[in-house]
Amino acid sequence: MNHPLPSWHERAAAAVPDGRAILEGERRESASGASFEKRSPIDGRRLGDVARCGAADVDAAVKSARAAFDDGRWRRSPPAVRKKILQRFAEKILAAKDELALLETLDMGKPIKDALAVDVPATARTIAWYAEAVDKVYDEIAPTPANSLALITREPVGVIGAIVPWNYPMIMAAWKLGPALAAGNSVVLKPSEKSPYSALRLAELAIEAGLPPGVFNALPGYGGEAGEALALHMDVDAIGFTGSTRTGRRMLEYASRSNLKRVWNELGGKSAFVVFPDFGDLARAAETIAGSLFFNQGESCNAPSRAIVHASIADEFAARVAALAPQYAPADPLDPGTVMGAVVDETQLATVLGYIESGRNEGARVLAGGSRARTDSGGCYVEPTVFDGVANGMRIAREEIFGPVLSVIRFQDEAEAVMLANASAYGLQASVWSDNLSRAHRVARALHAGTVHVNQYDEDDITVPFGGVKQSGNGRDKSLHAFDKVTELKTTWIRVDPA
Ligand code: NAD
Repeated sequence: MNHPLPSWHERAAAAVPDGRAILEGERRESASGASFEKRSPIDGRRLGDVARCGAADVDAAVKSARAAFDDGRWRRSPPAVRKKILQRFAEKILAAKDELALLETLDMGKPIKDALAVDVPATARTIAWYAEAVDKVYDEIAPTPANSLALITREPVGVIGAIVPWNYPMIMAAWKLGPALAAGNSVVLKPSEKSPYSALRLAELAIEAGLPPGVFNALPGYGGEAGEALALHMDVDAIGFTGSTRTGRRMLEYASRSNLKRVWNELGGKSAFVVFPDFGDLARAAETIAGSLFFNQGESCNAPSRAIVHASIADEFAARVAALAPQYAPADPLDPGTVMGAVVDETQLATVLGYIESGRNEGARVLAGGSRARTDSGGCYVEPTVFDGVANGMRIAREEIFGPVLSVIRFQDEAEAVMLANASAYGLQASVWSDNLSRAHRVARALHAGTVHVNQYDEDDITVPFGGVKQSGNGRDKSLHAFDKVTELKTTWIRVDPA
């Protein structure tokens, strides 16, 4: 007899997430015994207690990671062995797909559909891709005179502290872990206190896959406690940070106050979406911005939150996006049909609503949304919101909202479009929409951003770097370029007898 699969609600009710740290391959409470309560933004339900790690836990985790690095249990094992273990890790992530997706949805509110279709596969693919790189990336030999042999090798940096945000908890962790582990480093991962569970489970799966204890320790805790202690630690060689520009600034301070550890910052954004009147398919441009901006409740660092549109088509463009907004109305994240879930917590909800209020106060017009939603759910929901009549100097156009809020800004000519797009403290991504190849290319070259999309947005792959310029940070995750952050170049010059 076939039993129907339990519904996501039934699975959620039965879930008992484990909030203990992973240290030296084992689950541990925090050294002080302290914990904090984690609630779900989908309905306020209590998920459990999470270890509140602090300086003592960080010290123990760094010591464990250092010992693992120094004795070479990971970095000196043959590349083929390391590759196999990371491949097994990726397979285990896929095998635990339902469990990990559910943790992600309960923890930070994204629709279960997206957690299953995007977060889990992208996490596994990242680990698998870097697993493949382990025995395919070669070092260099310099062109020296015949009496010398000069090797330029990439050496793992050592102990890497990875501090990640809550918007894509597993993917952001995997972007740090993949290259760091593939290069032979040890990692101490500090997930966000707002979304700790999936990262802890990832660490457990890595150990099950054969990663030696100590190579990957994961400590949940608050930013100002575990995060600060990790970034200040004298025996951490590099920090891979993804999060807000505000905290990224502190990472640089921590490095300068401690051991000048390398800091790779992946920070916020306010990405421009520039539409010229010569682009023939305005409907597709409108559908694309709605899809990208409202995805993940607008909580994406690269969300195209500034639509910079030629004045002759701006009314039509804004009306089209506003008409699409109701399709993204937030609904129950555990319903497999839901496309927009809950924002991460009450604090973030208040921030988003505060920005909406500020847009109204500064004179922008709400074309769609503008309010809290699903108030009787007990969770944190906000309507997809479209503002028209926005000036680039308004707060809603300058600051990262990190919620489903779009600003439509008008331009008159190409020079003004480029000026407006670049008039931002951020430079993570941008896009240009034009059927004129010369214009599209010219504007793409002029846009100051880490990634420029042309006639599309968000098409992406692990094969290309991801990161920003200006106050969006200096790091590049993904692709083989990520190895630059987790390795140091070393020259070994050998005198040889040419005779
Ligand atoms: P956040 O800066 O508040 O927190 C990020 C991480 O830093 C968390 O783990 C947090 O606990 C920790 N932290 C906070 N304060 C700290 C401190 N004083 N010392 C040490 N650690 C500290 O950011 P968030 O709200 O979790 O994430 C949202 C931000 O992340 C947005 O700005 C978004 O654009 C950015 N982001 C950037 C990228 C990218 O690739 N560029 C990707 C995803 C998210």
